[in-house]
Amino acid sequence: MNCELKKHTIVVGSGISGLTATLLLAKKGHQVTLIEKLPHIGGFLNRFNRSGLRFDTGFHFTGGFGGILSDFLELLDFQDDVKPAPLKTEVFIANQDKRIYLPPTGLPDLAEAIAAHFPQDAAAIQKYYAAEQEIVDATPMFDFKHFDQADVMSMLTEYDALTVQEYLDSLSLKSPELKAILPIMALCHGTPPVESDFPYHCRCSYNLDSHLTAVQHGGDAFMTAFKREFAKYGVDIRTATTIQSLEFSSSSPTCTAAILSDETRLEVDDIFFAINPQSFLPLLPDNYLPARIKRRVRNLKPTCSFFTVCGCLDDGLHMENTLTFFLRDSDINQMLLPNATNYSTGIVTSNDPQNGCTTFTAFRTMFLEDCIAQCGPFDGSYRHEQKYLEFKEKMTESILDNIAHAFPALRGHLRVMDSSSPLTSQRFSPPIGSAYGTRQTIGVSRLSGRLPVTNCHALGHHAHFPGILGCMLGAYLACM
Ligand SMILES: Cc1cc2nc3c(=O)[nH]c(=O)nc-3n(C[C@H](O)[C@H](O)[C@H](O)COP(=O)(O)OP(=O)(O)OC[C@H]3O[C@@H](n4cnc5c(N)ncnc54)[C@H](O)[C@@H]3O)c2cc1C
Repeated sequence: MNCELKKHTIVVGSGISGLTATLLLAKKGHQVTLIEKLPHIGGFLNRFNRSGLRFDTGFHFTGGFGGILSDFLELLDFQDDVKPAPLKTEVFIANQDKRIYLPPTGLPDLAEAIAAHFPQDAAAIQKYYAAEQEIVDATPMFDFKHFDQADVMSMLTEYDALTVQEYLDSLSLKSPELKAILPIMALCHGTPPVESDFPYHCRCSYNLDSHLTAVQHGGDAFMTAFKREFAKYGVDIRTATTIQSLEFSSSSPTCTAAILSDETRLEVDDIFFAINPQSFLPLLPDNYLPARIKRRVRNLKPTCSFFTVCGCLDDGLHMENTLTFFLRDSDINQMLLPNATNYSTGIVTSNDPQNGCTTFTAFRTMFLEDCIAQCGPFDGSYRHEQKYLEFKEKMTESILDNIAHAFPALRGHLRVMDSSSPLTSQRFSPPIGSAYGTRQTIGVSRLSGRLPVTNCHALGHHAHFPGILGCMLGAYLACM
């Protein structure tokens, strides 16, 4: 009989980061308690029901099948649960009515497809994607099955400390639209080219640029698999619960127990925070936190959030699974900064085989503060206030107009089922409701890995990379 006491580990936050960390730790033999403040686990991985149709909250598509995602699925025993679904991807520049198809067959094909629209910039386009490939080749952690722990840091390249904007400027592009099209996946990590470190941008973009797909049954596929594995490993799941306070050793900077919001006391060996550091830092003793850490966390800037509209096409109308990056014009920086004068709308259509109809979800970049600025002073809720309802109606009309602009045959045939503003995201992702955590602004380092309280660790899209691939990789790095 094995009498060894299992390590008791708490994971806080049950988005893809916390879920992955929980399963990896459980597989390593830890007794894991997963703490989630909402009534259900899953964070931005969750889907929801409207009139019998399933809609995504956050996660809609991914890269990495046949590569790093498949490696993760194998590691977690999810190969039979999470399967790709084709997704036609295109950029639509509205003020020029220009549509560019992005093939899902690797960077060389992508470069060729874009160059076909901009032949005068063909050499610069090839150079851009060659640099992206070079940066990824110098990132050993992407080959996580084979990388040595000592190699976890990426190798330096000539592109370090260069913003995406600076690199684009160095290409002397003749077509200004390319400054939006080449770094289009900035819309999937949220740091604008003018602020973003070029290598960071390439690491986030590579799998999406190379092979972008949807997932059959979306986030439900992951949730089914996680729940099955958690039952197998006896994971203790506490929903509608938060950590009220932590207890610490008197002799070392070590956390010894957590007091939960229902007043349960749990002794702990390790805690992993898969939530915003601005939410968990107040739980750590002030005397263990160097001023530079507090400054770092204070200075973290949120990424954009989204205003989202979902619904379905009128009976009899069908569209293939499509992702359209609708850009009002080609100034991508303005779409990803607060007080924005510009926006982009991601339009995803999806065939629901069970109901025989096509659903759509369209998400418009928007910061929480800009939403509040349009709706007046905010004192906790204005769900039913006239001004908020009018704001939602105006945004919904504008987004429907974007869809109809990109797909004229759909005008008048879009049945809206719901809408949500950045205030809704704030419930999942407090305190600011950002879609991708904190911006990876050049020169600002985020808080990740081991904290000054040595058995506490930070992970999640605030800490490493956003998106489900980045979050899974971050969880792996934090736990293994
Ligand atoms: C509209 C939208 C579209 C997106 N599209 C895609 C996409 O197509 N592909 C992609 O890869 N990524 C996409 N993303 C980004 C992706 O969803 C996120 O980067 C990722 O899901 C974040 O996972 P996470 O685990 O770090 O955080 P979250 O999913 O935010 O999970 C955090 C969890 O912690 C809980 N929590 C917060 N505070 C506490 C607390 N104090 N105590 C206990 N629990 C707490 C929250 O309730 C939540 O359940 C999208 C995001 C949005 C908003």
